[in-house]
Amino acid sequence: MTRQPPAPEPLEARLVQAEALCARRGARLTKLRRDVLGLILASPEPVGAYALLDRMREQGASLQPPTVYRALDFLMAQGLVHRLERLNAFVGCHDDAPHDHAAQFFLCTACGKAEEVDDPAIAEAVAATAARRGFAPLRATVEVEGLCAGCALSGSDRGGSSTSPDGPGPHRPHSH
Ligand SMILES: [Zn+2]
Ligand SMILES: [Zn+2]
Repeated sequence: MTRQPPAPEPLEARLVQAEALCARRGARLTKLRRDVLGLILASPEPVGAYALLDRMREQGASLQPPTVYRALDFLMAQGLVHRLERLNAFVGCHDDAPHDHAAQFFLCTACGKAEEVDDPAIAEAVAATAARRGFAPLRATVEVEGLCAGCALSGSDRGGSSTSPDGPGPHRPHSH
């Protein structure tokens, strides 16, 4: 092994990076905002505001929901996290240089993974359609529900989801 891992602790590295990013913009990643961001980044799945609040309280913080919501607003404004409307939950932006940007997500209904795909073609299509209608978009997050590649391969009945599809499912795994 000649290669060294680039960062000893990716999460801490991302927090340091986020701190520097905010500082460059004249904003401050306070301890609370940093803690909230850390919890979101550490979560393998999108996490809701109340789950965040619970985890913060477990760590000994006495917080009220508005405090957490304000921290989330800040993190969204800085482009560090995205809000998934469908799940009413938050995910960290995967971008190296986070900014407030149009994002698209593929949400796996089986394993709960939210994959961010920032496809400029989708963003441009939304912008062009909006422009034709004289609509001025503020935010555009496209969320597509379905099965991720891994779950699609292992069959759609994976996972203990409480929702069971009735009738013929729209997705029929096919073999190559
Ligand atoms: Zn993003
Ligand atoms: Zn999946």
